[in-house]
Amino acid sequence: MSNAGETVLEIDLKALEHNYQYLKTKIKSNTKFLGVVKAFAYGSDSVAIAKKLEALGADYLAVAYTSEGVALREAGIKMPILVLHPQQISFATMIEKSLEPSLYSLAIFTAFIETANKLGESEYPIHLKFNTGLNRIGFEKKDIDLIVDHLKQNNAIALRSIFSHLAASEDLEEKAFTLRQIHRFEEISKDLETKLGYMPLRHLLNTSGIINYANAQYDMVRSGIGIYGFGNEASEDKKLRPVASLKTIISQIHTIEAKDTVGYNRAFTAEKTTVTATLPLGHADGLGRQYGNKVGQVLIHGKLAPIIGNVCMDMVMIDITDIPCKEGDEVIVFGKENTADWLATSANTISYELLTGISQRVKRIYIE
Ligand SMILES: *Cc1c(COP(=O)(O)O)cnc(C)c1O
Repeated sequence: MSNAGETVLEIDLKALEHNYQYLKTKIKSNTKFLGVVKAFAYGSDSVAIAKKLEALGADYLAVAYTSEGVALREAGIKMPILVLHPQQISFATMIEKSLEPSLYSLAIFTAFIETANKLGESEYPIHLKFNTGLNRIGFEKKDIDLIVDHLKQNNAIALRSIFSHLAASEDLEEKAFTLRQIHRFEEISKDLETKLGYMPLRHLLNTSGIINYANAQYDMVRSGIGIYGFGNEASEDKKLRPVASLKTIISQIHTIEAKDTVGYNRAFTAEKTTVTATLPLGHADGLGRQYGNKVGQVLIHGKLAPIIGNVCMDMVMIDITDIPCKEGDEVIVFGKENTADWLATSANTISYELLTGISQRVKRIYIE
């Protein structure tokens, strides 16, 4: 059989390499590259992606939570790992596993210093996150005096970098706002440098920032969606290659007559003789109910087939009336042609949500 014979998420590590090299062409050769591998590397496989990025020579990885960093360390990943949103309860574990915290409030900053002191650390690398307009997490400019006092008084920690995050780097209609964020980041870093006597590493740009605001690359960039093959705009999508493809097969084919219905709550009613196929994939695998009732389409032998009726937990039905195919044939839910971004857009969401929602039940296979 040429297909995988079941539902699989195919992870193309050659596409990852291509995307990494492409994004590197957008930045200076001495700008560091951080690969964001949070949420199972955007729903793929954080260990496989981290190993590849390590082999490619990336400088840093980032995860959201400590447990994600622990999993990478236990898989043998040695490179620096930034934890973007750690909680106090995991600070001792972070230090034990050499994970570097992003500290974003005075409470969390002083709590980390206390843990580092207690464990007898010296110059443990930390990162400070500043809020420049996203209003999610981060210090404010007015916190700098206290931050500097703590940094000068405690050699248990050492400031490795300061960073911020753009709110709308993909949206050029928000360019004035983004430029204000960049300006605020400049002001914050200058004030900090003056009071501290040195400048730590600085980083601000996510994938769309790299594409649209490369002038603000500072010492490092942080790319997530870009390394997985999406640039949040058509011209960039053409140059990137989707890493993850969700593939499945036809379990069973039915021919139904006019007025027959399909699936739970009888949500689809046939208007004429209709051929349906049932796929072994449902909302528990990450294909949400919002794709049901002809919102989403999947690809069979190069032709699009609409999802009919409600998406079930473990199955979904599609209309294949006009597509010659048979049980066991391959179905591409999203891939290189019918991309995750395209499918997500059909349901008014974004590639990030569709990709990160692919559940751990789906077997991962790799193209090296
Ligand atoms: C998730 C995340 C990124 C990655 O953003 P992309 O748009 O996927 O490149 C970068 N920085 C921070 C702080 C993040 O939380």
